[in-house]
Amino acid sequence: MSDRGLLIVISGPSGAGKGTICANIRKEMPNLVYSVSMTTRAPRVGEVEGVNYFFRSKEEFESLLSEDAFLEYAKVYDNYYGTPKQHVMDLLDEGKSVLLEIDIQGAMQVKERFSDAVFIYIVPPSLTELSERLHNRGTDAKEVIDKRLSLACSELALAHRYDYIVVNDDLGEASEKVASILRAESCKISRN
Ligand code: 5GP
Repeated sequence: MSDRGLLIVISGPSGAGKGTICANIRKEMPNLVYSVSMTTRAPRVGEVEGVNYFFRSKEEFESLLSEDAFLEYAKVYDNYYGTPKQHVMDLLDEGKSVLLEIDIQGAMQVKERFSDAVFIYIVPPSLTELSERLHNRGTDAKEVIDKRLSLACSELALAHRYDYIVVNDDLGEASEKVASILRAESCKISRN
């Protein structure tokens, strides 16, 4: 075991339920620090600056990009999303475990730099179920939902690059599986 904190990456298609699973994990494991990402997308109703995201303009994001301020970043659905680097590095050095809820492009960048990070991919039970969830959520227009579904299909082909795949059929069970993975990983002797 090292004194360095554990870096945990959770991804999955929109509508797979990773947001809710991450929220459950954070309740159950209050010592885990959730990394708040920066994005250029507009806030959704109820989202709070600095809690859900740091909402920034494209110009501000690109300026930070040129300063190498991100641990990873990606363009998802025409918007930038990125993990502020320094904060995460400081937390890991302090021995704290950090949770990144990011897309697959960002996860693959993290994988190149942190071979000891833990990668978990959350999948819906089926694409039909995913489509239903996205429609029922009512937060996105039809074209956006179509884009999300088509991205989900291409992403699923890369899911094998994660360490764990958790099927979210039942939120409680899926959250418990993720918690069990994290408990086991925190006891691992070597993560390389
Ligand atoms: P949403 O707009 O629904 O909040 O997020 C869209 C996608 O961007 C989700 O898959 C989410 O996990 C991903 N995402 C959120 N923050 C980051 C980030 O910092 N980096 C990357 N690469 N993806 C992110």
